[in-house]
Amino acid sequence: MKIRHDLIAEAAKIYKVLSNSSRIEILYFLRHTDGEVQVSTIVEELGMSQPVVSKQLGILHRYQLVRRRRKGTKIFYILDDPCIVELTEDMLNHVQHEIKGEPHPKNLYK
Ligand SMILES: [Zn+2]
Repeated sequence: MKIRHDLIAEAAKIYKVLSNSSRIEILYFLRHTDGEVQVSTIVEELGMSQPVVSKQLGILHRYQLVRRRRKGTKIFYILDDPCIVELTEDMLNHVQHEIKGEPHPKNLYK
């Protein structure tokens, strides 16, 4: 199968965006929270500073991983792409056994 190099390069960029524990935490939090949330909610719930949360949300937004909506003076955030969240969830499932050095439960190539 052939895949375009520009797409591969962009995919590598997105993996880079995801290779940051604060950003993974924010995505995970949004995944497990109903509806849209304000920055202050993320700050409170994750115990990160407001500038850090704002900066990370800006990066996630640039790569269309979160969506934002302005309501008056308030800005609300929600996940934009469910596929990326599945990828994050899959990764966290992988980590559950990897961290213990155990094999992956279902190996496709067995
Ligand atoms: Zn695994």
